[in-house]
Amino acid sequence: MAEKYTKEELAELPFMNEDLDLEERVDDLLERFTLKEKLKLFSGKMLFFTRRVKRLGVKSFKMTDGPTGVGALGTFFLKKTTYFPVAICRAATWNPELSKQFGIAIAQEVRDVGRHCLLAPGINIDRTPLCGRTFEYQTEDPYLNKKLAVAMVKGLQSQKVAACLKHYVANNQEKWRFSVSSEVGERALQEIYYLGFKAAVQEADAWSVMACYNKVNGYHGCENKEILKNTLLDDWGFRGFVVSDWYATKYTTTEGCMKAGLSLEMPGFPLGRYVYSKGKIRKALEDDLITEKILNENLKKLLRVMFLVGMFDDQDKLPKGSRNTEEHQMIARKIAEEGIVLLKNENNILPLDKNKIKKVAVIGPNSKKKHAFGGGSSMIRAQYEITPLKGIKEKCGEEIEIITKPNKASEADVAIICVGLNHNKHKDCENYDRKSLNLPQDQIELINKVSKENPNTIVVLISGSPIAMEDWIDNVPAIVEAWYAGQEGGIALADILFGDANPSGKLPITFPKKLTNSPAHQSEKTYPGIEKKLEKKENTHKFDRRVYYEEGIFVGYRYFDENNIKPLFPFGFGLSYTTFEMKNLKISKKSMKAEDTIKISVEVKNTGDREGAEVVQLYIEDPESSVKRPPKELKGFSKVKLASSKSETVVFEITKEDLSFFDVKSGNWKAEKGIFRILVGSSTRDIQLEDEIEYFE
Ligand code: BGC
Repeated sequence: MAEKYTKEELAELPFMNEDLDLEERVDDLLERFTLKEKLKLFSGKMLFFTRRVKRLGVKSFKMTDGPTGVGALGTFFLKKTTYFPVAICRAATWNPELSKQFGIAIAQEVRDVGRHCLLAPGINIDRTPLCGRTFEYQTEDPYLNKKLAVAMVKGLQSQKVAACLKHYVANNQEKWRFSVSSEVGERALQEIYYLGFKAAVQEADAWSVMACYNKVNGYHGCENKEILKNTLLDDWGFRGFVVSDWYATKYTTTEGCMKAGLSLEMPGFPLGRYVYSKGKIRKALEDDLITEKILNENLKKLLRVMFLVGMFDDQDKLPKGSRNTEEHQMIARKIAEEGIVLLKNENNILPLDKNKIKKVAVIGPNSKKKHAFGGGSSMIRAQYEITPLKGIKEKCGEEIEIITKPNKASEADVAIICVGLNHNKHKDCENYDRKSLNLPQDQIELINKVSKENPNTIVVLISGSPIAMEDWIDNVPAIVEAWYAGQEGGIALADILFGDANPSGKLPITFPKKLTNSPAHQSEKTYPGIEKKLEKKENTHKFDRRVYYEEGIFVGYRYFDENNIKPLFPFGFGLSYTTFEMKNLKISKKSMKAEDTIKISVEVKNTGDREGAEVVQLYIEDPESSVKRPPKELKGFSKVKLASSKSETVVFEITKEDLSFFDVKSGNWKAEKGIFRILVGSSTRDIQLEDEIEYFE
């Protein structure tokens, strides 16, 4: 019979003692559980909670959704929260400090709604531009991905709110997401798909990871021993817990998940408990399919995070929560302002001069559309959302007339057409991939009609993924990619259009000219994959579906560079209203040994007539190698804000790691001796400075 405690007695138990070492506290609590109590904690309660163990004062661990703010679903639509720009917009800022501030702000909102864990960041790599969740993810590049993920997780967890890295791993398409097997080689996993997760675990100590719906090389994420136990837990030393994606355990087994290291099955009773019911775990124990040792190891990970978020500490001493504050709104605006990308600006038609304009047409389906409350699990019940039209109206005040009828656009000095996508099915939406890279036909027609009548036509794209532009790009002088830029998006957009802010966003993803240029779209095998009907047995899928990552490590710009395909807009690209010059590339030491850190410095100067920010990008090429390597890989970047005619020197540090590839034969990272080229520029296709170093093993 388990011992009963009074409130006072409970408070005196060792695990409640904040002065004790974390691991001692975890062990003490674990030892006090009966088996029955332990079994309560492996599957959740309803959508976002775990169950309580009242006898020991273990409260419910509470999660909430979303990469763009505290998700509406996670609070059962009850709370209004700040709608921050989507992850791809935040990535386009190339500003890790902003990701950190975002992490802190969102954590404060999580605390304010009484939750302990945010189901974010989403850090799957953008393998195909059609993936319905591209807007929720950051980028196609593993280095940019990891820098931003690490910064965000650090911010989040500084407030004692657990991050949940999702969706681990190779969950790169929504089509067939519950059943498809991503057939991906070890080198691509290591160099491309794992990297963000690994860095967020090792450099930011992320406290939880969500296992994906899909299979990876034949096994579902939740019971994939190779990716969970061998890699995440053993190789990387992850100390947090693994939670299933919601309902992702449906076609798995209790022992498979337990042995792989899954700590928590979600959602819980009565919604979708498949493998971690008390009965099933007990049976697996009785049948010797699992041991209590494995059970304890998995539970310990969840308990550890309960301690880390302060569930057993003095609640008054925990970081304070806050929501919808002016500070959070300003962070949302700043991310929008720095994330919006100026793609085309012929004859410097932008920025618009308020003094020279009398009439502006603001038209197109996205001029008035709000996007917060859509997209799937990331949807936000926003306190407010400033649309492009509202933002531009506020900017223009009384002095400038706003026209909103498309057939009057020819009368305006400037026509701003807000087109793009939305969060409907088969646009930028969870559970559905896009069907085409193009804009809807009626939008193309609108652009071409208006631009014929009004040469000063500016296209504003509101989207969370790349758009093909062949049918209209030459007809318009200016294009702005404004993403889903959060509740302050309309203000940030107007500030950029009218020059109160200077655009500094850079694409975190290649915009292909057409879909077939994209590495994932070489055949049906590479996307969406091949399916075969299966004989239906109990607990199996109806189809065997496999998508083959035949491009290997050549994802995103790596593929375009390798195959000499000109993108529509390259990775790293984005215009400014000022100009920059990069010069004086200096390398501290031209020959490098394994233990050396080399310093690479570059001077960047604002050569134009207004303040602006440039992202100095450092790429490395390994021209001679025993394996195929990409023509260039991002290994450093720095965003520098400069007043007109001012300059600054940025310094990058390079170590052996930056020269290495994953050697499948030895199962290790390896840098081979020889020459490495150092490339510095403002996009993958605008390398301005080059030099080389020699590496000796
Ligand atoms: C999504 C996750 C989300 C979870 C909980 C799933 O369908 O894939 O990203 O966190 O639901 O809402």
